[in-house]
Amino acid sequence: MHLKLLTAEDVSRIVKSIGVENFLDNLIARVEVAFANWKQLKVVPRVSFSYASGVLEVMPASDSKWYTVKIVNGHPLNPSKGLSTVVALGILADVETGYPVMVADATLLTAFRTGASSAVATKYLARSDSETLGILGTGAQSEFLCLAVSRVIPLKRIFYYDIDPSAMKKFKVNMMNFGFELVEASNAREVAEQSDVLVTATAAKGRCRVVERNWVRQGVHINAVGGDSPGKTELDPRILTDAKVVVELLEQALVEGEVQNTGRETVYAELWELVSGLKPGRVDDEEITVFDSVGIAVEDWAAITYLYDLATELGVGLKIDFVPSLRNPKDLFSLVALCQR
Ligand code: NAD
Repeated sequence: MHLKLLTAEDVSRIVKSIGVENFLDNLIARVEVAFANWKQLKVVPRVSFSYASGVLEVMPASDSKWYTVKIVNGHPLNPSKGLSTVVALGILADVETGYPVMVADATLLTAFRTGASSAVATKYLARSDSETLGILGTGAQSEFLCLAVSRVIPLKRIFYYDIDPSAMKKFKVNMMNFGFELVEASNAREVAEQSDVLVTATAAKGRCRVVERNWVRQGVHINAVGGDSPGKTELDPRILTDAKVVVELLEQALVEGEVQNTGRETVYAELWELVSGLKPGRVDDEEITVFDSVGIAVEDWAAITYLYDLATELGVGLKIDFVPSLRNPKDLFSLVALCQR
């Protein structure tokens, strides 16, 4: 039985061959469909172990055909060692036989699906005339988040800020050819005050207040992406108590999200309820809305199955015999037996 092995380079080749914006559009659609089909999917809160240096997590999800699992980390001090804060590995298995069919780097995929999930939330929660996006934290996820959100609002300009000037410079270079006006801010407040849609994607460990309540204006939509594990949050809790807050999976959000600081009373809905039409998203231009994103396995399921379809269509990836191929499936010992059969 063959298994498809996809390196980070293979994944990047696939994305480049169809184009970043095309890839994002298709992935946003797939993530939205996954949320719409919520009841047909199996998902549980991820299993997460915390360490002084960061967090390691396992994230399973499935429909009746495909089972996916992602292993992912979050290590905020990694960049100072020349390593990424987030890296991930994705596995796809066939539900019918249980056999794995693909193992892929899921680092790039994680950034795309995080952007796609924020785009879906933005579609239901932001004002439809949102033209100005602000981003706090211009690290690895930032370009993906901005580009994904730009697919669902009429984005004209981006205010951006990071405590690391070199991260801002990198962001500017990567974003300069997409046609947006780029405004480098000198602090987080300036970004928050200008934003129709605000994205927080900082990686500081601790209960931080990257955004204060009095900095954001009425009608803003916030995608709070960086606070995604116990004891790691970004927003002034008063924003949450004044806002319509939407989470991905309540049980997981209460442990890992911004709402760990404010409790379940501050949660309006899970995202699937908006996508399925069970609850309305934004209802007026004055509401403050928050997507308290932590990242759930359903989003990875949508991304990994999409990657598999593309890899198959484009013939990308190394096909290898990975698991045992046995003449007699009951004779596993034949692999180590001394006598020849
Ligand atoms: P990164 O380390 O590459 O970038 C984070 C950036 O935040 C850095 O450039 C850092 O200088 C900046 N920063 C830290 N404190 C700041 C502050 N107070 N103001 C402005 N900038 C600040 O990390 P990344 O891969 O871009 O991930 C960002 C965060 O998003 C991490 O916390 C990660 O765990 C989280 N994340 C969430 C999801 C999700 O689904 N919600 C998915 C992926 C990553």
